[in-house]
Amino acid sequence: MSQQAIKEAINNKKLICPKCKKPIQKYEKYAETIDAVRDGFNVQEIDSLGFRVTLVCANEGCSWSERTEYPFEYGEE
Ligand SMILES: [Zn+2]
Repeated sequence: MSQQAIKEAINNKKLICPKCKKPIQKYEKYAETIDAVRDGFNVQEIDSLGFRVTLVCANEGCSWSERTEYPFEYGEE
């Protein structure tokens, strides 16, 4: 998974704002979710399973935004 997946979901209007029911316009801040880090003997291993973003509605008159973790719960129903 990567930021590309978020961009595509937004471009394809697959993320729906729970407040105004319009497609979410953008996201801010991207961070991989690091679930495990093993460090020793100069070997560092990171298991990364997901990512976190702040979804921002950005539609006129709506100030909804929420920090969430992929997979998002804001989809078509
Ligand atoms: Zn909204």
